[in-house]
Amino acid sequence: MGDDRRVALVTGASRGIGAAIAVRLARDGCDVAINWLREKARDNEAEAATVAEQVRAMDVDAICVEADITDRDAVNAMVRRVEEALGPIAVLVSNAGITRDRTLRKLPPEDWDRVLEVNLTGAFNCMRAVVDGMTERGWGRIISISSVVALMGNFGQTNYAASKAGLLGLTKSLAREVALKGVTVNAVAPGFIATEMTAAIPHDVTEQIVATIPMGAMGEPIDVANAVAFLASDEARYITGHVLSVNGGVWM
Ligand code: NAP
Repeated sequence: MGDDRRVALVTGASRGIGAAIAVRLARDGCDVAINWLREKARDNEAEAATVAEQVRAMDVDAICVEADITDRDAVNAMVRRVEEALGPIAVLVSNAGITRDRTLRKLPPEDWDRVLEVNLTGAFNCMRAVVDGMTERGWGRIISISSVVALMGNFGQTNYAASKAGLLGLTKSLAREVALKGVTVNAVAPGFIATEMTAAIPHDVTEQIVATIPMGAMGEPIDVANAVAFLASDEARYITGHVLSVNGGVWM
């Protein structure tokens, strides 16, 4: 780690919005730890390694750290590994998230549990693992990726909307708890962003969604990453407990 470089940990950073955030923070001079999840279905390790290469191309350090954020021991071990390799974590971006969409009447209870576990409890696990170090050092940035559906609700997403709305309560409460310690806690609420998550939505439904967006198009991962980079910067020092919408005007 360079003397004046900050270390950022980004969860779910092997692709999509998380990958864009990792590279964007690197552009601002952060060393970056890229969290990825071992899956049987796809080679996330190789994807995370590709993101690490893109980070190192910005002349900063990168490491890839495997952990399921719902596993508290794995999260604590990940934080220790990052701090040994790169130094104290100054910026946490809780980005990892999943959807399991069904109307409430048809929603299998285990899909309720898993979405809350990953999107909300996973973020809690990561915050819990880093917050003491940040308050002791007197500087920190905790940024969680919520969603526009936390604010407006969405058909077929009771579990996802509840998890993302829960993140806002978590964010605002922790913001109050650590406000005197130099740590800010904020959320970014993206609208519809072109990633694999939204590519799973049927084409006709996507067209209907885009028709409701005042700016007439989905956002790109970099649009979210730019908002995160601002909240992570020194310039955002007086902003805490805020929910920053990045949604093309779809919800105001
Ligand atoms: P994505 O392409 O599906 O990527 C999500 C990432 O999170 C993947 O790398 C995934 O790994 C990882 N992940 C899932 N469960 C995990 C776990 N238990 N532990 C560690 N990592 C885990 O999604 P995205 O579109 O980039 O979304 C990123 C974040 O933005 C999510 O929180 C999402 O809810 C939020 N968001 C997205 C949109 C949008 O329109 N795309 C809008 C609003 C908010 P795997 O590959 O193993 O699944």
